[in-house]
Amino acid sequence: MPLVRYRKVVILGYRSVGKTSLTHQFVDGEFLECYDPTVESTYNKMLMVGKDEFHLQLVDTAGQDEYTILPPSFSIGIHGYLLVYSVTSLRRMPVVLVGNKADLSMESREVKTDEGKKLADSWGAVFLESSAKENQMTRGIFTKIIEEIDRVDNSYCTV
Ligand code: GDP
Repeated sequence: MPLVRYRKVVILGYRSVGKTSLTHQFVDGEFLECYDPTVESTYNKMLMVGKDEFHLQLVDTAGQDEYTILPPSFSIGIHGYLLVYSVTSLRRMPVVLVGNKADLSMESREVKTDEGKKLADSWGAVFLESSAKENQMTRGIFTKIIEEIDRVDNSYCTV
């Protein structure tokens, strides 16, 4: 008997990198040159992997713009994220990797600072460790992501 499993995956990435096209191709087996971004944002698809039956719920963030308040479906019960970029654009995604709960004792730590840093470096992301108990640290995180967004925006050539 195959095991039946449920997996919810959110597809992230800049606008127009092909999030909807990838999802639509996977779910419906076709590629559309133009896709109405407002049509659908959640797709369901069953996929056999090995002997197990995976029921996928795919949440496409393509229809959102910077003014959209993300619905709860984008943040609740997620098992994984797909981060998509386009090989035709050098535009880098501003990412800050945050190792939180750094206030807790060494005994409960499973990820060394070095390991977090290495992972962030391999992504070209900024790395910070933090504690939600420290207001200054949380401020640092949000300041950093704002700075990163600005830095990436300003390095984007518009000539
Ligand atoms: P989204 O905003 O990230 O969901 O991007 P879309 O899926 O709407 O794609 C943006 C544009 O790029 C559309 O015109 C697509 O047809 C095109 N596109 C998406 N993926 C590919 C791809 O793999 N190859 C090519 N050649 N075009 C693509």
